[in-house]
Amino acid sequence: MVFTNKTKSVKLIAAIQKQKEVSKRMFSKLSIPLDIPDVQVIDIKTNKRGDYVITVESTLDSTSCHQCGREISKYHSHDRAITLRHLPILGHQVYIRLRPKRYECGFCSSKKHRKISTQQLSWYSPKSPHTKAYEAQVLLQLVNSTIQDVAIKENLGYEAVVGIVNRYVSTQVDWFELDRLEVVGLDEIALKKGHRDYVVIVTARLKDGQVKVLAILPNREKETVKAFLARIPTRLQRTIHTVCTDMWKAYINAVKEVLSETVVVVDRFHVAKKYRDCADKLRKQELKRLKTELSADQYNTIKGTMWPFRKNKVDLKPQEALLLDRLFDYAPSLKLAYHFREKLTAIFHNDLTKTLATQAIKDWRQEVQTCQLTCFDPFLTTLDTYLDEITNYFLHRHSSGFVEGLNNKIKVLKRRCYGLFNLDHLFQRLFLDLEGYALFT
Ligand SMILES: [Zn+2]
Repeated sequence: MVFTNKTKSVKLIAAIQKQKEVSKRMFSKLSIPLDIPDVQVIDIKTNKRGDYVITVESTLDSTSCHQCGREISKYHSHDRAITLRHLPILGHQVYIRLRPKRYECGFCSSKKHRKISTQQLSWYSPKSPHTKAYEAQVLLQLVNSTIQDVAIKENLGYEAVVGIVNRYVSTQVDWFELDRLEVVGLDEIALKKGHRDYVVIVTARLKDGQVKVLAILPNREKETVKAFLARIPTRLQRTIHTVCTDMWKAYINAVKEVLSETVVVVDRFHVAKKYRDCADKLRKQELKRLKTELSADQYNTIKGTMWPFRKNKVDLKPQEALLLDRLFDYAPSLKLAYHFREKLTAIFHNDLTKTLATQAIKDWRQEVQTCQLTCFDPFLTTLDTYLDEITNYFLHRHSSGFVEGLNNKIKVLKRRCYGLFNLDHLFQRLFLDLEGYALFT
């Protein structure tokens, strides 16, 4: 095998004694760029496990003094060897061995005390046992994966992988990286199933469609949200034109108090979930009733109606439509609930102005209230409370669909990283899932 570095091909045939049978074949030697700047290869060995240990030497003849910062080139000595894990070659682990050069500063040294600085090369960080290239590869593998999983695959300790994450991924958003925020989403997730331990995910959808996690807040209290919004630099606050939230007074009030110019939109998907749940609740009640009232044979003809009922009318297959019709024959109130559910969805689909949409929703409300149905009653209360924020959707048709997509990512992340309750870690992992491919490929 022949390794070369970027500047100069240094041919060294080694590391293949152990694979003599292979080396007899054609193409057994390859030339691989080491892709590490400012070094030359001086030796290659394999260890017992078959790992490659490549000894390199710096080709740079100076460093900066750690005391005065001046460039110094008076050679002093070589430091003890460091061994850094690098990118694998053909399935074998690779280690780079280097004895860093040390230089004496003529400006800072006195007769008694000589000031010695160790040369630092660009492809590794002090204190890290890996090259930067290798760490980038580990980070890439962490996208949509778990620390445990990557640790096993890479034969690294759990803490070593955590160390890599901590070296590269901040636990907070870097405001300097952002020019504009545009649409901000406030959404909550329950960290434990069935618990009311909510954390708030604050995101921004940038102009190019990119989604950024801005913060993960420990609870959904107004003061918490307000304090975070107030921390956003003023120049960025001014660029937020819309905030999409769930129906939660604390969010809405926090936004209104800190970002008075911003339009608050109650997300249409949350609205939809609310009125769809009302219809679904009635479906359950009605099926329970029918199970006792119908004969077993009759009841069998309306089995499997849950998914068709949840579908929108346009998405129904002919068989599903027939099934639903049978169900509606037995349960007319359910037919009515389905009709109202679809009617309201249609309003959100239509290209209406805020004024027209408000009127349409008010008309819908009136119709629902005057019919016999009571299943939508909780939703009617919601409408009364949030009608303005709900119909703000029609101003620019912003929804936190992007937040919903993100929520799915978080759900998967939670499943993957069982017990990931540390908000800093959650932020880092979410950041990696969202931006890891772009940053580390
Ligand atoms: Zn100095």
